[in-house]
Amino acid sequence: MKSILDSREIAACTSDIEQRVYTSRLLGRDKTLVLHGGGNTSVKASQKNAFGEDEDILFVKGSGWDLEKIEGGGFSPVRLDHLKRLAKLTSLPDPAMVNELVTHMTRASAPVPSVEAILHAILPYKYVDHTHADAVVTVTNSVNGEARIREIYGDSVVVIPYVMPGFDLARVCAVEFGRQVGPQTIGMVLLNHGIFSFGETAKESYERMIELVGRSEEYLKRNKAWDIEWNTVGTPAENVGLDLARLRKDISVVADFPVVMVRHKDAHSLSFVGRDDVATIAQQGPATPDHVIRTKRLPMLGRDVAAYAEAYRAYFAAHEPMAKERKTMLDPAPRLVLDPELGMCSVGRSAKDAAIVAEIYAHTMEIVSRATALGGYRALPARDIFDVEYWDLEQAKLKKGGKPAAFAGEVALVTGAASGIGKACVDSLLARGAAVVGIDLNPAITSLYDRPDFLGLECDVASDEQLKSALMRTAEAFGGLDMLVLNAGIFPGGCRIDALGTDEWRKVMQVNLDANFVLMREAHPFLKLAPRGGRVVIIGSKNVPAPGPGAAAYSASKAALNQLARVAALEWGGDNIRINSLHPNAVFDTGIWTEEVLASRAKHYGLTVDAYKKNNVLKTEVTSRDVAELAAEMCGALFAKTTGAQVPVDGGNDRVI
Ligand code: ZN
Repeated sequence: MKSILDSREIAACTSDIEQRVYTSRLLGRDKTLVLHGGGNTSVKASQKNAFGEDEDILFVKGSGWDLEKIEGGGFSPVRLDHLKRLAKLTSLPDPAMVNELVTHMTRASAPVPSVEAILHAILPYKYVDHTHADAVVTVTNSVNGEARIREIYGDSVVVIPYVMPGFDLARVCAVEFGRQVGPQTIGMVLLNHGIFSFGETAKESYERMIELVGRSEEYLKRNKAWDIEWNTVGTPAENVGLDLARLRKDISVVADFPVVMVRHKDAHSLSFVGRDDVATIAQQGPATPDHVIRTKRLPMLGRDVAAYAEAYRAYFAAHEPMAKERKTMLDPAPRLVLDPELGMCSVGRSAKDAAIVAEIYAHTMEIVSRATALGGYRALPARDIFDVEYWDLEQAKLKKGGKPAAFAGEVALVTGAASGIGKACVDSLLARGAAVVGIDLNPAITSLYDRPDFLGLECDVASDEQLKSALMRTAEAFGGLDMLVLNAGIFPGGCRIDALGTDEWRKVMQVNLDANFVLMREAHPFLKLAPRGGRVVIIGSKNVPAPGPGAAAYSASKAALNQLARVAALEWGGDNIRINSLHPNAVFDTGIWTEEVLASRAKHYGLTVDAYKKNNVLKTEVTSRDVAELAAEMCGALFAKTTGAQVPVDGGNDRVI
């Protein structure tokens, strides 16, 4: 472990807070030290109050901030004397503690201070750094962990037995620190939790953290427990899209809400799930309390979701009477699946949640493997893990998250998604919380968005193989398919029937009709497994009810597609799949309508561009977004009882009306 501190950069930090921000970010950049909002840092400084008096303030990381991206405003200023007095109380329930923290800040708009604020306050050093470093947790979670920690660190750290984070931990630390501190003390190890370092400058505290964590790394290396051989057993099973979709459906049913499930078949995951001893080493518990809420107590081995839920309910019930009061919070669905064929699957209420679970577990697999090599992995007892999992502060945080988005945990696929109406559909679905796969012939689709809930795939819809592959990749990326938006289509230049070539006719039919038929057929088994029922939205055309001259191939293809949708609505209703169509007209904010084309068309009709755009009954402009919002709503609750419908979105057309 090496320091990445740049002496010029830290010299440029002029205030205590700037220094605090700088080294906090250094810690945050190293994912083996802190993950996803884990870890926290602080600085003690003096500040003038409204009366012109100096007050000692603890600036401690606010909740909701990630160390990697923290700014000055992410540190909550809390009056230090008050925190020190709180530490002397014999007991204080955690919600009351949080109330004390919040009501003793000096900036009303600051974030809620970290629940470890009192712990920072009682450490008599200007700068305090706290991480859940993988290497340290690996050692503390090994057989004889405490003895190993004492061997590694001697009198340079104070060692604290495991206590659940919150007021009780701060109190135990206050007492133990006073008893164990000596002239050599530069840090504090919390068994099964993490490590603190401190110093008079941000640099000193940071470098001590690096040094202390480095000692655990060296110890693991000396004991041949550092380099793990990730021997993949065989190759990952292919074409398991429907297996994944079935598994995701089972998990969603047990959770009582749809979940996104992401498959990980990298060498580490496959090797870990393929270990002979996986049933032992993966069935003990998370490495640090910080991970419990995300990953839950244990991963599921294999695919028997009902058995997992049964065991989880027993674990929950075993911790009564607390469990009784909290029955409404019971969620017996796994967040991780370890399966020899599938690899590691991470589960979340959103793609982002599932990505966080996966990242945490990637570290857990390393920690568990190394601890096993060192002599055996030992997680906390189930009781302690339960206390964190159903900790009132964490539950309050979950509640504060509010009502989930309309399509949270659901997966949509949009064709022709790189631009125009297709891209607008991607946006409308993402905005409603869905994970979205966008496919397009245009390779730009692959870099349309860089976010965990979007996957862009280059795909020629005229190829059956490419469509099948897109569905497989959708299942691998998000666990299945709930919504299908058929938007891709071509509109060739105007041409009368007597001059229309057979090739052009066939090309239009292939893209606008055949490709949609193939995709619907191949998507059907996935849509059938959608936890809340499958939905298909067809982007039709005004030309279906009101064709125009010169667009024979286009109008015929869209009309045939419309008829296909009506038959599908009849056939698939029993599978709880709804199919609805919308018929847009004159949507001009798409790629094909350049300023020049618009101007020339408007001129052709003797209209201004504006009048041409609004040439409909309502005299209104119809945008891609208008179409996309209707498409998204057709997948939502408003249309829950509607299938086989056709809705125009054209500002009113006298030929359609
Ligand atoms: Zn911690």
